[in-house]
Amino acid sequence: MTTNNDTHTTCDVLVVGGGPAGLAAALTLGRARKRVLLTDSGPRRNAAATHVYNFLTRDGTPPDEMRRVAREQLAHYPNVAVRDVGVRAIAGEKGAFTITLDDDRVIARRVILATGMIDEPIALEGFAALWGRSIFQCPYCHGWEAQGGRWGVLALHPEAPHTVPFATMLRGWSDDVTLYTHGTSIDGEPRARLEAAGVTIETTPIARLVDGPRGLSSIALEDGRSIACETLFAHPHQRQVEVVRSLALALDDDGMLKVDPMTKETSVPGIHAAGDLATRGQGAILAAAAGMQAAAAINMELTAALVSAGRSRESTR
Ligand SMILES: Cc1cc2nc3c(=O)[nH]c(=O)nc-3n(C[C@H](O)[C@H](O)[C@H](O)COP(=O)(O)OP(=O)(O)OC[C@H]3O[C@@H](n4cnc5c(N)ncnc54)[C@H](O)[C@@H]3O)c2cc1C
Repeated sequence: MTTNNDTHTTCDVLVVGGGPAGLAAALTLGRARKRVLLTDSGPRRNAAATHVYNFLTRDGTPPDEMRRVAREQLAHYPNVAVRDVGVRAIAGEKGAFTITLDDDRVIARRVILATGMIDEPIALEGFAALWGRSIFQCPYCHGWEAQGGRWGVLALHPEAPHTVPFATMLRGWSDDVTLYTHGTSIDGEPRARLEAAGVTIETTPIARLVDGPRGLSSIALEDGRSIACETLFAHPHQRQVEVVRSLALALDDDGMLKVDPMTKETSVPGIHAAGDLATRGQGAILAAAAGMQAAAAINMELTAALVSAGRSRESTR
């Protein structure tokens, strides 16, 4: 890190977000001798979960422990700084971004956004309290622990193309899967395919999700019935964090940032994005892989520019 005449710290790459995507990006750039500042502050996606599953060599690790080890390993690289501080604004252009932190300003040649997504709790009684305990997004993450139990899948838009394949897939973990549409009908071929897959369909509106001594115990319906259910899968609406929204980057139909598949560059040159904020394929190891991809693409560009200027790296003094 260097300090210029305006006393602003200058780095090669500012990484916004210290989850799997940001940490992996910082590690890759650190090992490539680039000067990196990783900043982290605010909510993270799996805050409610007690363990991260299905991450090679880290299966069943508490999320905080995973981050602690990643930071410990980053500390090995003197050219990487990690700060628990929020990014408020990003201005400027490729080669010279000015980043306003909660307590400082920083100049960076490139930016990697790795801020994850915010899940907006579904407006059903009990949902927010059970999210991450008995309500999950993904069976690859939490299916094994709940296998064989009474499962539900909440499909508020049952006409969506992924409804049938997703509910059918859940049968790989449980013989007792019910699809709840919360008042929307589901007919024709989708209904026939679900029934053929052994998925029970329940269209009655839900009154509340009942939080028992060990988490979700049942789903109370508005007609007075109650259906035993211990594990529910749901995909709440997600939104980008404020600083990402302020950049007005191009989004896809799901509200994810549009990025180049290889370089992870967004619609603004020099700003890359990795992890949950740029894909519906959301998992910790996928986010980490995207972080490395973004970092490698940036490193290639920065190094080519340095070499053509007769240097191999920026001064770290
Ligand atoms: C309940 C639940 C359980 C899950 N369980 C698993 C699991 O078992 N296995 C698995 O593989 N995946 C799991 N996932 C998915 C996994 O958590 C995400 O795919 C992964 O965390 C995405 O990593 P990320 O780095 O993109 O974002 P995040 O992990 O969300 O990290 C983003 C970081 O950016 C920071 N940030 C945001 N805004 C700013 C700002 N302005 N300035 C500075 N920092 C900022 C946040 O504080 C956060 O630390 C789970 C998700 C949920 C919701």
